[in-house]
Amino acid sequence: MSATQYDHRNPRIVIIGAGMAGILTAIKLREAGYTNYAIYEKTDRVGGTWRENTYPGIACDVPSHLYTYSFEPNPDWTQTFATGPEICAYFQRVADKYGVTAQVHFNETIPYCEFKDGRWQIRTSTGREDVADVVIAATGVLHHPNVADIPGLESFQGVSFHSARWDHSVPLADKRVGVIGTGSTAIQITTAIADKVKRFDLYQRTAQWVMPIENKIFTEEERAAFRDDPVALAQFKAEALDYFKHFSNAVIDADSQEMAELEAACLANLEDHVKDPVLREKLRPNYRAGCKRLIFSPNFYQALQSPNAHVITDEIAAVEPTGTRLKTGELRELDVLVVATGFRADSFIRPTTVLGRGGVNLDDVWSESPTAYLSISIPEFPNFFMLNGPNGPVGNFSLISIAESQVSYILTLLEEIRGGRCREISANAEVSASFEVERVAAAKKSIWSTGCKSWYLDKNGVPASWPWSRDKFFEVMADPKLEAFDRV
Ligand code: NAP
Repeated sequence: MSATQYDHRNPRIVIIGAGMAGILTAIKLREAGYTNYAIYEKTDRVGGTWRENTYPGIACDVPSHLYTYSFEPNPDWTQTFATGPEICAYFQRVADKYGVTAQVHFNETIPYCEFKDGRWQIRTSTGREDVADVVIAATGVLHHPNVADIPGLESFQGVSFHSARWDHSVPLADKRVGVIGTGSTAIQITTAIADKVKRFDLYQRTAQWVMPIENKIFTEEERAAFRDDPVALAQFKAEALDYFKHFSNAVIDADSQEMAELEAACLANLEDHVKDPVLREKLRPNYRAGCKRLIFSPNFYQALQSPNAHVITDEIAAVEPTGTRLKTGELRELDVLVVATGFRADSFIRPTTVLGRGGVNLDDVWSESPTAYLSISIPEFPNFFMLNGPNGPVGNFSLISIAESQVSYILTLLEEIRGGRCREISANAEVSASFEVERVAAAKKSIWSTGCKSWYLDKNGVPASWPWSRDKFFEVMADPKLEAFDRV
């Protein structure tokens, strides 16, 4: 039992998850003088999504210099869009440097949290019990694989796995490989392996808008210059941010000049780089750019034009023991079938049972769709906070700066407890409800609502995202409104 007596000057805080946001939270809590905290991590290593996803071609599609903690710039990124292993190593290095790794309880899932007698009663998968005053869920967004509901999938006699569960023991060079899906994941896999396998099938239900990007390799001299001159590194980051903001603003204004430019650049990419007119039409999207998460890729179209690559747009009727049976009747024999069909993005901390005040179950509160005030706090769930929780910014932003602003907001709320002004704090129900009404109204006017399917949409078809500008998000987060919270 790790329980300690209640001490408002140093409350007990439990962080769930040791990915990007959990590491960040521990560092910031320590910096703010909190010492009585514990981090529980379900696996045996830090790194979150970058530890889980190891598929070939994995990389970040946000420029690396923006995908870093503000307090830990990295002069050593080797390219504009760093690879997954490089990013994972960065998080592990930062976690080690700040002493976080040594503080993590590894291999401990938290299936149960209950707010009882004014404190959070927590049970872990190994039977450990903890009693905390504050819980911070840093459990990630794209976390629970969504396996396509295709008949016969389990009957396949070759090797099949979800993209987030890549089986590296399977050599691919002499295999007929099929990839289902055309999201960011499938596109990175395609560019990595299409020309390296015996035959490659990409099963495309929906064509993508693909923005050509340059993936600059930083030479040793350039990296040394960044190491020697932190001002130059900061300036480089600021310039990258300015450039990227261009795209970020486009997605919240479908009629903007930025969006028109972006669509034009994607269309030119298609026209210029896909020579075969039949393939070009297969790859032409029939919805607005930015409606789904925009794909950034320097070479997706090139990879698809390898002689052994095929874009299959006929629907899969069923998976059979030897391959995919298309609705046309054709059987495409396969040795390996990769299911790159995304994640259940509305799970957040679930399947953990979270019971708030009076036993109210988070599952019931979220039965329609997950909501939270400013994506961090839920009425009747006192001292329970989320990072990258429901309806936060999506749209090709760096989730790191978003999490940093959320942690800073939460630290302001915790000051109310530490200052002895309250013991429990959670979003006010009326404020939350009216925030949600405004959010939904704005979301329905966003580019994500212009007629496509995507993981951004909740089950009612409403984009589950921050629907205003990126700048507005940071303004709101920089100015916490205590009056929006019930303090007991
Ligand atoms: P995703 O964007 O949700 O894409 C899933 C794909 O599977 C879609 O093409 C979808 O088709 C297809 N699909 C789903 N069910 C299907 C079915 N029953 N039959 C046929 N096709 C089906 O998933 P993801 O590619 O894993 O990416 C998820 C998110 O992860 C990204 O948007 C991004 O935020 C993040 N990510 C980021 C990076 C990065 O570089 N930063 C890399 C990878 C992933 P439809 O389009 O027709 O629905």
